[in-house]
Amino acid sequence: MLRVSQNLPEQVRRLRERIAAAAARSGRNATSITLLAAAKAQPAGRVRAAAAQGVRDVGESYLDEALEKLAALEDLPLTWHFIGRLQANKTRPVAERFAWVHGVDRLRIAQRLSAQRPFHASPLNVCIQVNLAAEATKAGVPPAQLPALAAQVAALPRLKLRGLMCIPPEESDPARQRHWFAKLRRLLEQLNADGADLDTLSMGMSGDFESAILEGATVVRIGTALFGPRPAKA
Ligand SMILES: *Cc1c(COP(=O)(O)O)cnc(C)c1O
Repeated sequence: MLRVSQNLPEQVRRLRERIAAAAARSGRNATSITLLAAAKAQPAGRVRAAAAQGVRDVGESYLDEALEKLAALEDLPLTWHFIGRLQANKTRPVAERFAWVHGVDRLRIAQRLSAQRPFHASPLNVCIQVNLAAEATKAGVPPAQLPALAAQVAALPRLKLRGLMCIPPEESDPARQRHWFAKLRRLLEQLNADGADLDTLSMGMSGDFESAILEGATVVRIGTALFGPRPAKA
């Protein structure tokens, strides 16, 4: 396993092939799908190696770890996405240093991010996380509360609401996987039908990204299928 996981160029190549194949199956162009490298627990050197293979978007889940890597990789042309759970008292460094936040699920967090986004920076791109299956262990707004939250977030001056994000229940059956992703896609379509202007569906991870692409994912967040197993925490 270790040998395989260290062959990063090969893994990135295979991953891009799988993304392209899923895109082709759904009649989409692979260039409409962003490969976001979910880099939690991966050292900066691994992210640098992924960048050398053309990876440009990096997702981080833990703030302290993220800030270390941001500093270590400042010389690279990377777009940084915060994809973890965001606590209200930790929004400032995220507002200052990241280009995207995928897990916005309450107004208070969005208000703080907007207030703390530096004026010299472009508006912070955000996705609202939706808890599709009402899972107690997962973050996200319930679908019924999504329209109200989306309207409030879209009105904040220093944010740009781009779309929706989900982490659905783990399913091994592709049909079940697609069922959840189709739900998120329909929620986005409904918001757009009601006047929103959203272009991003952040959905799909290592175990289900092909199903997500078949249902319209524009960003797939991939960790283990790109980097190999996450190293144990030191
Ligand atoms: C870790 C993580 C991923 C990637 O998970 P893999 O199964 O390793 O691909 C995607 N999204 C979020 C929010 C994560 O925390």
